[in-house]
Amino acid sequence: MSTLERIREKVLAQERLTPEDGELLFTHPDLLAVAQLAHSVRLKLHGTTTYYNWNLHLNSTNVCEASCLFCSFARLKTGMPQAYTMQIDDAERWIRERYRPGMTEIHIVNGLNPDLPFDYYPSLLRMIRREFPQLHIKAFTAVEIHYFAEKYGMSYEEVLRLLQEAGLGSLPGGGAEIFAERVRKKICRDKADADQWLGVHRAAHNLGLKSNCTMLYGTIETVEERVDHMRRLRALQDETKGFQVFIPLAFHNEGNRMERLPAPTAVDDLRVIAVSRLMLDNIPHIKAYWVMLGVKTAQTALLCGANDIDGTVTEEKIYHMAGSQSPGALDLGEIQHLIRAAGLTPQERTTTYQTIERAA
Ligand code: SF4
Repeated sequence: MSTLERIREKVLAQERLTPEDGELLFTHPDLLAVAQLAHSVRLKLHGTTTYYNWNLHLNSTNVCEASCLFCSFARLKTGMPQAYTMQIDDAERWIRERYRPGMTEIHIVNGLNPDLPFDYYPSLLRMIRREFPQLHIKAFTAVEIHYFAEKYGMSYEEVLRLLQEAGLGSLPGGGAEIFAERVRKKICRDKADADQWLGVHRAAHNLGLKSNCTMLYGTIETVEERVDHMRRLRALQDETKGFQVFIPLAFHNEGNRMERLPAPTAVDDLRVIAVSRLMLDNIPHIKAYWVMLGVKTAQTALLCGANDIDGTVTEEKIYHMAGSQSPGALDLGEIQHLIRAAGLTPQERTTTYQTIERAA
C-alpha cells in the first residue's frame, strides 16, 4: 500500500494523522491526490456549503513598537510621515462612511502602539457597540492582548474581561506566524511567543469567547515547523474547543524587510489548505482568505479543503501594503458568483457561523 493510500485509509476511518503523515502530505508529489482527499473531508463535514460574511476591516493605528521582518503595515513610530492613530471620533467617522445596513462584523487589528492609554481600546469598542450595534466586534490579535497585559500590568483574563464588557465578541487569529522558536527569533523576535499566543487564546476560550487561528507560511519555515504549528493548534483545540476556523496566511514580499524571498506560489497555497484540512481534524472550518491568496487561487482552494472564503472586507490595508494584488473589497454578488462557479453553495454567515438568510 502506498503511503498516501495508508493516509487515505486513516482519514476514512477518522483516525488522527501523525506529524509524520503531515510531513508526507506536504512533500507528496501528487498534489491533486492530496487536494482530492482534503476535499472529500470538506464535503463530509460541510457538503458543498461555502461560507462568507459581510464585514469591514478597521486598523485604527499603524504605530507599532515591534519589528516583524515580514510586516509592511506598521513598525512606525508616532510622528513618522505614514504613521496614524485615529481618535475615537475619527474612527466613528471612518466606520460611518463605510458602514452599510446589513453588515454583520467589524474586524479590528492594530499595531502595538506604545503611546496610547489602555482606555483607548474599551472606548473604541464602546463607541462601536453604541453607534453600530448590529456589528459583531472581532478585535485584537493575541499578540495585542499579550502586549496590553504586559504594558498595563494585567493578566490576560483581566484584559479580556474589560474588553468583553466593552463589546468584544471574539478574537481574530493573527499574530501566530509560525510557532517554531527558531523562526520567531529571526522574523518576529519582539512580540508574544508561541506559548503566550496560545495562552491568550486559552484564556479567551475559558471566558466563552470564540477565536480564529492562523499560520504564516512561505518565509523561512520548514515543513516540520508547519506541521508542528498545526499540531500545537490541534492540541489546544482538544482542550478548549474554542477555535472556529484556521486561516493559512501566505507571506507577501513587498514593502518589508524580506523582499528577497520569493512569495509562495499557487501550488504552495493549495497544498497548505489541503494539508491543514487533513491535519486539523478538530477545527471545524478552513478559510481560503481571498485577500492573501488572490481571488482565483482562493476560489480553487474551495475545491482543495477550504469551506470559507472570508467576507467583503471593505478596505483591507495590511496585505495590500505587502503587495497583495487582490481587489480592496468584493461585493456580496461577486463572492456568491465565485462560489457558485466552483459548483458550490454560497451561505452567508455571522462571525460565529450562524447562517443568515436574506430576502432576494
Ligand atoms: S506584524 Fe503586527 S506586531 Fe509585527 S510589526 Fe506588524 S503590526 Fe507590529
